[in-house]
Amino acid sequence: MKKILIAIDNDFIREAYEEVFKKEDFKVFITKDGKEALKIAKEENPDVVLADVLLSKIGGLELLEEIKKDEATKGIPVIVYAQIERTKDKKKAIELEAKDFITAAGVSPKEVIRKVKIVLGEQRTYKIGVQKTNLDLKKLAKDLGYDSKLKCEKCGGDIALYLMRDLSMGEKHFIVSFVCPNCNK
Ligand SMILES: [Zn+2]
Repeated sequence: MKKILIAIDNDFIREAYEEVFKKEDFKVFITKDGKEALKIAKEENPDVVLADVLLSKIGGLELLEEIKKDEATKGIPVIVYAQIERTKDKKKAIELEAKDFITAAGVSPKEVIRKVKIVLGEQRTYKIGVQKTNLDLKKLAKDLGYDSKLKCEKCGGDIALYLMRDLSMGEKHFIVSFVCPNCNK
């Protein structure tokens, strides 16, 4: 059973996440206190931590910093959570090697589960190079709102077909999109 530590300040959101991750068969630890979160991280060695920027005692970014400082816990992936996206928080989270940065407004619980599973390596993704002469691929790109010439709008490079397993639907279901391997978008 995978262990997740959910350190989120907002009671309603924390409880909602607790429930969804329990349903996904995670062992769930919860707190709104950054100091306690650090203690749980050290004692329980969770597989993943969801750390809110705004926690009492010590904030989520400080918590992330402490987790990364300690040899025993630095391997634990941390996803930073924020009620409001602030560029400086996001920048700091990336500097401190957070695995992801999510905001309350931009993400549903289902999406959070997906992101956590990507971090845990359970949600496989495949990047497949495309042949530009393949007319069906061009049609597919157009259908999905990408450049039908199969070029990246930003750098002009070739975009690749991107398949991501949708675990919520089962092992054989994939979400299809296109990404630029250079820009990762
Ligand atoms: Zn590009």
